[in-house]
Amino acid sequence: MIQSICTVLNLDDDEIGGLYQPITGKNRKIIIYETSEGGAGTLSSIASDSDLLRRISSKALYILHYDETGKDLHDACDKSCYGCICTYYNQRNHKYFDRSAVKEFLLQMSQINALHSSFDQNVKYNEYLKTDLTSLEREVLIRLKEQNARIPSGIHKVISKDGELIAEADFYYEPKICVFINGPDHDKDYVKVDDEKKQMKLKKLGYKVLSVHHENHSSPIYLIL
Ligand SMILES: [Zn+2]
Repeated sequence: MIQSICTVLNLDDDEIGGLYQPITGKNRKIIIYETSEGGAGTLSSIASDSDLLRRISSKALYILHYDETGKDLHDACDKSCYGCICTYYNQRNHKYFDRSAVKEFLLQMSQINALHSSFDQNVKYNEYLKTDLTSLEREVLIRLKEQNARIPSGIHKVISKDGELIAEADFYYEPKICVFINGPDHDKDYVKVDDEKKQMKLKKLGYKVLSVHHENHSSPIYLIL
């Protein structure tokens, strides 16, 4: 789960930790937490975003050599291997690992609210199209939809800190991902300097920042989202 959370949310491995807590006589617990003090709010956004939860579960299935229906992929191991869950650090427990133990759970999670979620995404998409977008923003939004990528959680979201305006993200994704769709104006030197300052401030506040340049529509946004 940790591996898949980090991949889907574009986090470093050490930003998320987890442990298994056996409790006598009760259901055992798996605890997943953010390692940075205060955290970036990443995990709470998973709990409130069924689409994100679904994508993390699908990624976890993939890491465990399953396709989205639960069938073994061609390179599947028997119970565990270094390609899926085994690491140097958990080698003491390798003999207990069995990737099939969580398959059903992950399959259920990966199908959770799929219909509801895609409905929400459509509603958002149509709402955004009615708002005041630049032609480039509109183009990128349409492309996201065409590629079945995630539709932003917000558009033109104002980010402020202690009453100070930090930036207005053209597209905003939970958790804390700002996407800037930069038209030709942003190629001007003084705008560039201003953009860089904003980005630094956002990064300091724990935001991830992505930019889409007007000449490069096939930018990484589609890969990450
Ligand atoms: Zn394996």
